[in-house]
Amino acid sequence: MSDVNEALRAAADQFGTPLYVYNAATITRQYRKLTTAFAGHKTRFFYACKALSNVAVLRHVLGLGSGLDCVSINEVRLGLHVGFAPDEILFTPNSVTFEELVEAKNLGVNLNIDNISLLERFGATFGGSYPVCVRLNPHIEAGGNYKIQTGHIDSKFGISIHQMRHLERVVKGTGLHVRGLHMHTGSEIKDVGVFMRALEILFDAATRFPELEFLDLGSGFKVPYKPGDPETDVRALGEQVAAAFKSFEKEYGRELECWFEPGKYLVSESGFLLVSVAVVKQTTATVFAGVNSGFNHLIRPMFYDSYHHISNLTNPKGAERLYTVVGNICETDTFAWDRLLPEIHENDLLAFHNAGAYGFEMSSSFNSRTRPAEVLLDESGELRLIRKRQTFEDLLAGQVDTVAEEKVG
Ligand SMILES: *Cc1c(COP(=O)(O)O)cnc(C)c1O
Repeated sequence: MSDVNEALRAAADQFGTPLYVYNAATITRQYRKLTTAFAGHKTRFFYACKALSNVAVLRHVLGLGSGLDCVSINEVRLGLHVGFAPDEILFTPNSVTFEELVEAKNLGVNLNIDNISLLERFGATFGGSYPVCVRLNPHIEAGGNYKIQTGHIDSKFGISIHQMRHLERVVKGTGLHVRGLHMHTGSEIKDVGVFMRALEILFDAATRFPELEFLDLGSGFKVPYKPGDPETDVRALGEQVAAAFKSFEKEYGRELECWFEPGKYLVSESGFLLVSVAVVKQTTATVFAGVNSGFNHLIRPMFYDSYHHISNLTNPKGAERLYTVVGNICETDTFAWDRLLPEIHENDLLAFHNAGAYGFEMSSSFNSRTRPAEVLLDESGELRLIRKRQTFEDLLAGQVDTVAEEKVG
């Protein structure tokens, strides 16, 4: 860790703050944990790139042998751009038009369809000529914050398992070739039992579809955020999944691959958001540490009430004091309340941990503040700038300022 801290300090020196830094070695470690855990059964992993889609990160993940899970046509294009083969890409969108689905089909990627009307239209147009995967909703409530639960009864995702008869009718009626069934019950599921329950439901559904090649359990692997937080026990899960597949395959009559789409598990811990302390402000109620960032750069604490560990890289051994860490956005944007941190001085360098997943990716230029640069600490220990810091000119780019143009014209 101290090596990483040194690299983080060097990155801040070289590229300034606010800055996102990703440690490639951590992504590799997490990927290897998964492939080791699931070695007992033929398993494929598709990195859910909505967590972090910088092309340097995508290239790293491609190099590890992973596939890519995409939720928009532009994510599919990014994947193809960095060299993923169409077969290594899974398109799992929600609420998209038929046209976007056809665009993905024309690019040759795996399609995961999550709505009966789209499936019916797809079947009517293409019959069984382009095999598809169907996303089911098992109605299992699981996961962290409600906003990241996808399997519950009010969720917009997937085709309800209670619509199985209708689904079968559409498949038979249009001659669709269903080669996979999919489920993604949410994010941050620590309990192995939840995945196994979802798998039982998939097995039950699978008996109605004779042409299956794989069952996709989605994702939701939890990683620790707070010190002492649990991580999903992927080793135990891997063993249980392998045993369950083995016995189901006997009943089903053919082998089935197991697919997963990890996002957070691969990149969360790899990422740090580095910020500088602009002000330390003592009020009647607390001591604020005001940093040169805000929810325009890392929205998870405000949006999901997520905990991000903070370290003071300039004064790591300082006496601990209680702080409220806030950003510079003109709205309440509190990163952390009542956090014990080594004494903070103005200009100190702080690091938010677990900033790899849904960090930069959900950033904006709210308050006309620019987005941070991104740096990859590669496995040889080199710091590589992988996205330039946004500039004032970037904020104007694309705006049509008619008055200014008249003056110029
Ligand atoms: C977001 C998403 C994932 C990744 O979820 P994580 O919690 O980041 O692992 C996987 N599959 C689908 C379909 C998703 O939408």
